[in-house]
Amino acid sequence: PITVEHVTHFLTAAAALIHERRDELTALDAAIGDADHGANLDRGFTAVMARLPSVADKDIGTVLKTTGMTIVSTVGGASGPLYGTAFVRAGMALADRHELSTEEVLLALEAALDGIVARGKAQRGEKTMVDALAPAIEALRAALAAGEPLGRALQAAADAAEGGAKATIPMLALKGRASYLGERSIGHQDPGATSTAYLLRALAMTCS
Ligand code: ADP
Ligand code: MG
Ligand code: MG
Repeated sequence: PITVEHVTHFLTAAAALIHERRDELTALDAAIGDADHGANLDRGFTAVMARLPSVADKDIGTVLKTTGMTIVSTVGGASGPLYGTAFVRAGMALADRHELSTEEVLLALEAALDGIVARGKAQRGEKTMVDALAPAIEALRAALAAGEPLGRALQAAADAAEGGAKATIPMLALKGRASYLGERSIGHQDPGATSTAYLLRALAMTCS
């Protein structure tokens, strides 16, 4: 089963990957936004790392809720409330859980997506993080239904998220700052979809 240690490993891997990709994420945001996405998330996950020791002995729901609240209070912009809500909702779905079944991992990701959509109102195809997370969840659900072990299913989800992020390149942005560019948003990969793909990759690395 997935334990709180897996969750802290996931957050640590996510923080490291976001730090490593910080300049790339910022460059993507420079093309269609305000050039701060990498810096925003790096600041947020650095703060999450600082908070982790204080919740490492708590249940998984508490760890994820604390992560979300830390992100809300440190990331700012559009992605702070969106990712923050995603982690808080995932934590609420896993309240008081110390061990997770495979199905609960899927449930947590579904709750995260529901939170992002509730707050940001983006549909698929509007060039946002939803375009990476929604196909990842579909791939995870399909792989689990086909009897794949969680590690392999999460690899499939991460691959789907990466494909989803790449598929934002030809899209017209209809949400967030990139939407101010209109047609000029076409031809660039969405920074938030890209960071979502990195978070899914970190999750797959941790659980395989
Ligand atoms: P800001 O645009 O405020 O500077 P960031 O640069 O950190 O914030 O994040 C931008 C990313 O946020 C976009 O690439 C997009 O994926 C995501 N985003 C913006 N608005 C929405 C929304 N309404 N729903 C989902 N995702 C969104
Ligand atoms: Mg930005
Ligand atoms: Mg900004």
